[in-house]
Amino acid sequence: MTTLGFIGLGNMGGPMAANLVAAGHDVYGFDLSADAVVAAREAGVAIAHSVADAVAKAEVVVTMLPTGRHVQNVVLGDDSVLAHVADGTLVIDSSTIDIQSARAVHAALTDRGLPVVDAPVSGGVAKAKAGTLTFMVGGTPDAFAQARPYLEAMGANIVHTGAAGAGQAAKICNNMLFGTTMTAVAEAFVLAERLGLDARSLYDIVSTSSGDSWALRNFCPWPGLVEGSAADNDYRANFAAALMSKDLRLALTAAEEAGVDLPVSGRADAVFAALAQAEGHLDASAVIREIRGRD
Ligand code: NAD
Repeated sequence: MTTLGFIGLGNMGGPMAANLVAAGHDVYGFDLSADAVVAAREAGVAIAHSVADAVAKAEVVVTMLPTGRHVQNVVLGDDSVLAHVADGTLVIDSSTIDIQSARAVHAALTDRGLPVVDAPVSGGVAKAKAGTLTFMVGGTPDAFAQARPYLEAMGANIVHTGAAGAGQAAKICNNMLFGTTMTAVAEAFVLAERLGLDARSLYDIVSTSSGDSWALRNFCPWPGLVEGSAADNDYRANFAAALMSKDLRLALTAAEEAGVDLPVSGRADAVFAALAQAEGHLDASAVIREIRGRD
């Protein structure tokens, strides 16, 4: 049994922390949101009242925060993980963040002699709850080996993608595909509607045809077609449009820096930027509201 500190108990971090508890570990969790804290406590997470409190006894620290800025503040800023962890503590950042922030975290923790991996995830809330996430992991082979047992408690597919930041590189390529596919799925439903086609017919055909996609089957933007979809729940976020927009921005920025032109993903980035501005708290599948226009 290991003592872990877990910072960021939101849509993803909450169930991930719960799975570490279920695997027999002692987990001290911290989040700024009262709702997130209540749910985590019910799952058996011991609630800490500060970052310092969460990491005080930790042998392993996991962070699951919105952006690179949040991760840099929590891990490297004032009163941070770095300021309070014991020597030898392994740090796993599972947030989806920019490669530069990930590398800055690696550099600062490595300077202090701490093992660290960037280990973003794919699979959404359903797989976070089921403990079947995919982890894309950047870091040294030794840090990867140390992180693996904890990642296995939360995931089913654990891939070492390379050195510092390589997990984030894999993740932003994946999410760029998700964002562009999500946009295209929404466009198909809007076009079908204008052509007088029944949404159920479209779903039944596409989900067994060459237009099928994970976005369609897990983030169907049309209500009444996929049980438990955000579309059936007023687009309450499973994966917020603001986070999807952030990930597309990360990918497009990385592409610009690498000198690669990505015209299709560039359009999806613009569509999601507009949605994030207007209704970023809604689910990514609410992109259909951006395509169709709001009532
Ligand atoms: P979320 O907004 O539900 O959770 C983030 C949590 O971090 C919130 O509860 C927030 O209160 C907390 N937080 C923010 N600043 C904090 C601080 N300084 N100290 C303590 N807690 C703080 O987001 P999420 O959906 O769980 O996503 C987390 C990360 O995982 C993001 O980078 C996202 O892009 C990525 N991700 C999300 C999904 C998904 O389907 N939701 C899937 C894969 C990856």
